[in-house]
Amino acid sequence: MNRRKLIAGNWKMNLTHKEAEDLSRHLVGSIKNEYLAKVETVLCPPYTALESVGRVVSRSGLKLGAQNLYFENDGAFTGEISARMLKELGCEYVIIGHSERRKFLHETNKVINSKIKKAIEFDIKPILCVGETFQEREDEIFEGVVDEQLSDALEGISMTDMRKLVIAYEPVWAIGTGLCATTDQASSMHIFIANVVTRLYDSETADKLIILYGGSVNSKNAAEILSAERVDGALVGGASLKADQFTQIVQCAFEISK
Ligand code: PEP
Repeated sequence: MNRRKLIAGNWKMNLTHKEAEDLSRHLVGSIKNEYLAKVETVLCPPYTALESVGRVVSRSGLKLGAQNLYFENDGAFTGEISARMLKELGCEYVIIGHSERRKFLHETNKVINSKIKKAIEFDIKPILCVGETFQEREDEIFEGVVDEQLSDALEGISMTDMRKLVIAYEPVWAIGTGLCATTDQASSMHIFIANVVTRLYDSETADKLIILYGGSVNSKNAAEILSAERVDGALVGGASLKADQFTQIVQCAFEISK
């Protein structure tokens, strides 16, 4: 199965809307159209910059994504942002269940499941993040942890809807640490994730599923990790804030998919 490569930049809580606008302008200038023809490339700025970044990328092949949403449509949920609001700003993707939200905002698999359903209802593609902590890898329970995250987060999601999802394997110990997983570690977990999806759905759904790797991907290690078996792209944090690095990562994905 020839799955399209996908590179998503998670800007996290960085950049004011003006700074974000500048970075997106740089990226529109530096990421060539021929790369975008082969590599789906998504920018996920903070909420406050979605409108300005959306305007900049609207005339390019770059796609807009959000970093989170709330699972209700509207109402008394101070500080939250709904899928309808994101849709109107042009978001095509939304990151759901990032480990930082699981850890600092206490997001549970149940909440993540509701958010996935809401994103799909509004035709926004969820990028569901899963991954184990350092201790869970040390204790050799990492496959069980990821299996549970997937099974719970995907509860009640139909096969048709599952085909709209992207999964990002992000080992917590690799995020922002400079410690990228080895190609063996990434590949074997991606194959494991595809097997879980085969068990929960079927092999065709698993074959079509785009599985990203995330955790300290940069312009130096991108070629290696993106060439690994069953790695269909990357969710990039720190390096996505640097126009040259992010452009090189997209270029790597392009070269590999040629
Ligand atoms: C992330 O937060 O999704 C991420 C992968 O971060 P970093 O690339 O900085 O490790």
